[in-house]
Amino acid sequence: FQDINSMKTSSLKIQEILGSISDAFYALDHRWNFTYFNKEAENLLKRKRSEVLGKNIWKEFAPAKGTSLEKAYRKVVKTGKPLSFEYLYPGDDSWYEINVYPSGGGVSIYFKNIDERKKVAFKLQQAYEEKNNILESIGDAFFAVDKDWIVTYWNKEAEKVLGRKREAILGKNLWEIFADAVELDFYKQYHLAMKTGNTVSFEEYYPTLSKWFEVSAYPNEEGLSVYFKDVSLRKEIDIQILQANERFEKVTQATTDAIWDWDLEQNILYRGNGFDKLFGYNVTKNLKKKDFWHDKFHPEDIEEVKNSLDEAIKSSSEEFWRKEYRIIHQNGDLKTVVDKGVIIRDAKGNAIRMVGAITDITDRIKYEQELQDLNELLKVNIRELEITNEQLEQFAFIASHDLQEPLRMITSFLNQLERKYKDQLDEKANQYIHFATDGAKRMKQIILDLLEYSRAGREQYPLEEIDLNQLIKDYKILRNTLISEKKVVIQTKNIKKIKAFSAPLTQTLHNLLDNAIKYSKKGTPPKITISLTDKKSHWQLKVEDNGIGIDERFFDKIFVIFQRLHNKEDFDGTGIGLAVSKKQVESWGGKIWVKSKPGKGSAFYFTINKPIL
Ligand code: ADP
Repeated sequence: FQDINSMKTSSLKIQEILGSISDAFYALDHRWNFTYFNKEAENLLKRKRSEVLGKNIWKEFAPAKGTSLEKAYRKVVKTGKPLSFEYLYPGDDSWYEINVYPSGGGVSIYFKNIDERKKVAFKLQQAYEEKNNILESIGDAFFAVDKDWIVTYWNKEAEKVLGRKREAILGKNLWEIFADAVELDFYKQYHLAMKTGNTVSFEEYYPTLSKWFEVSAYPNEEGLSVYFKDVSLRKEIDIQILQANERFEKVTQATTDAIWDWDLEQNILYRGNGFDKLFGYNVTKNLKKKDFWHDKFHPEDIEEVKNSLDEAIKSSSEEFWRKEYRIIHQNGDLKTVVDKGVIIRDAKGNAIRMVGAITDITDRIKYEQELQDLNELLKVNIRELEITNEQLEQFAFIASHDLQEPLRMITSFLNQLERKYKDQLDEKANQYIHFATDGAKRMKQIILDLLEYSRAGREQYPLEEIDLNQLIKDYKILRNTLISEKKVVIQTKNIKKIKAFSAPLTQTLHNLLDNAIKYSKKGTPPKITISLTDKKSHWQLKVEDNGIGIDERFFDKIFVIFQRLHNKEDFDGTGIGLAVSKKQVESWGGKIWVKSKPGKGSAFYFTINKPIL
């Protein structure tokens, strides 16, 4: 026998040590048979030590055969170097951390189950991926920097919006890459967030890309997370709206009209400054519908205005509303206004907004009233004039008939007196008889002229096409003797056919031509020019002569009945011609006037309105 006490003691000691280590442990000899299998190994691999000791590992744990585990064991045996690795054992689908050491031609294995750790790592990985997915999928651009401004994250949208690839940016200093933003609000705001630990949100224009960004930066343990998006389009619209509103403001200031803008959806009415002037006090500028009619609208009109407005809004097609009504100014004055509004509708036809203006038409209404009053007055005057004219006509009638009769008697008895007692009377008496006869003759002429004048322009004639050339030819034939006696020359300029009233036109032209011949200079043959000018709305006829002319002082006087500038010894006549002509011309709505220089000649003008087509 042998004393194996010390050997036994150390072997037991080894057993004790091996059994006490908390890691699972087993050992294999050079034939892959188990030489050791500790308690923890029993627990983890669910096999009894008695079952496996002396047995081959690839038989007892067949699922491991041919896997990375076998390869690793063989490698350790071959190289004599230990190995550590993680291994998923197909036999129980568990993860193990395995440490393999070479020992006595075989291997010693320490291992532990790392399912929990794996699970946590997996979850971590999953959470990480999830976070990344979120960061990638959010519509916003996103990046993160650490406390030294080194970029740690840069999502796809950030790549797109800022035009920088992730690879080119990760790990770099933000302000080195975006040096152009150092002067801008971005720099200030991010630093503020980082310094104070408070979130910042702001909008800022980035000139390098000509873009507006809406930015939120969240400081955290690692540094700063920044979310941002391109809001250039919205900003542009905002600016446009702002400008449009500004324009609207300016218009409301510039116009004297009271401008209003009613948002039917929000039920807010905005009123411009014009309202203050309209009502004479500072009206509320922003109000709700229920307060619309609190100002001084005329109580008699207000219901009708409300109803008509409601009706216009309810109809799905009405685009315009207009209403005249009265309001009461602060000073008590009643004002008439016209209120006009454009109705803006949505696709369904619902009114969503109305913009309008109130115009004070009090003065216009007053003016219209005055005009109407004036018209009434004019009508009365015309009536009175008609009566006066009628009376004149009657007077002329009486004059022509009743006065002519006694006149004729005077003339005939004067004739008889002359004939029968001529020889018995002395020369003086005969001369008196002659004066009396002459006076009676003149009186007769005056009566006839008066009658003609009272009739002139009273009759209605049809509008005809008149050949002025023919009219002048007819005149020449009529006054043939006179024309050849006085060697009269009549010229025409631009004469053509025009629409006019034949009889009064003929009479007027004859009168003017007669005068042009009559009032010629002694020894100078009359030279007359008749010309026609187209004045768009009317024709203008001119009869020009080279006669004695008229002093400017008498330009008006000569058109008055019985007004003459000469006695009948120098020039025969009664002073009726131009008065009649004036009446004729005015009867068709024309005008007649004269331009003249004494000793040089005269030009008589008159107009004929063109018919309105
Ligand atoms: P009457 O010729 O019978 O006197 P009118 O009414 O025709 O009456 O003319 C009024 C006055 O106007 C004339 O007396 C004359 O003094 C002046 N008159 C008219 N036509 C001419 C003319 N062409 N040239 C100069 N004077 C004229």
